[in-house]
Amino acid sequence: MPDSIPRTNLLADCGNCLGLCCVALPFGKSADFAFDKAAGSPCVNLDENFRCGIHARLRNSGFTGCTVYDCFGAGQRVSGHTYAGRSWRDDPGTATGMVAVFQVVRDLHELLWYLRQAAELAVPPDLWAELRAALAATDALALSDPAELLRLDLIAHRGAVDELLLRTSSHHRAGARGPAPICAEPTCAAPTSSERICAGPTFGGPTASGRTSAVPGCTTRTCRTPSSSPSSNSTPLPGIRTPACRRF
Ligand code: SF4
Repeated sequence: MPDSIPRTNLLADCGNCLGLCCVALPFGKSADFAFDKAAGSPCVNLDENFRCGIHARLRNSGFTGCTVYDCFGAGQRVSGHTYAGRSWRDDPGTATGMVAVFQVVRDLHELLWYLRQAAELAVPPDLWAELRAALAATDALALSDPAELLRLDLIAHRGAVDELLLRTSSHHRAGARGPAPICAEPTCAAPTSSERICAGPTFGGPTASGRTSAVPGCTTRTCRTPSSSPSSNSTPLPGIRTPACRRF
């Protein structure tokens, strides 16, 4: 568990934010928003205390989109840390930069959320160490000053994290699938245990008559065997317990 980055740091805390998402993001009149708003323009519903004036009735007022947006805790970090509480209203000269910085930190916090979840999975120690290193590096980037954040090659960083997350996902899914079924039939012709994993028609190997045999007792759903008679294609093979297994 990556305690160095508590989960609560990645949850939106609107009470400690300067209404950044209500300024930074654009939206268009639609089923989710009742009117058009340009990026960088404060929403008319944002009050002087950086609170939404219609918070309790957002959905009924046509702002469903506002209820599903998540900044992953970037709002309070940019407001409290990056700009140390200085608001875009106190210093309008910082407003443009603050909006751009918020978008960068928001993306970094989203990556932190995924990395933190990935680091909670059962993965090998070397992969876990990579995840922890990526968490620390991404968190350090999110703590950068505004100029550094605006210079950051976010696409490259996201690409590196994506690759790590994909590897973690592949490993986790492979583990979740479990091992392939192995035939327990004592007469199985395959010489090693790995070759006794049921792979279908050739599983049992050729018989003396030259046909591929079924392995009695095989329970895998994919097991098939050729028949000398195509007309018998609805006849279950003796000993095959899967209903999908038919001669063909
Ligand atoms: S409606 Fe409220 S929550 Fe939505 S952008 Fe405007 S002030 Fe923010």
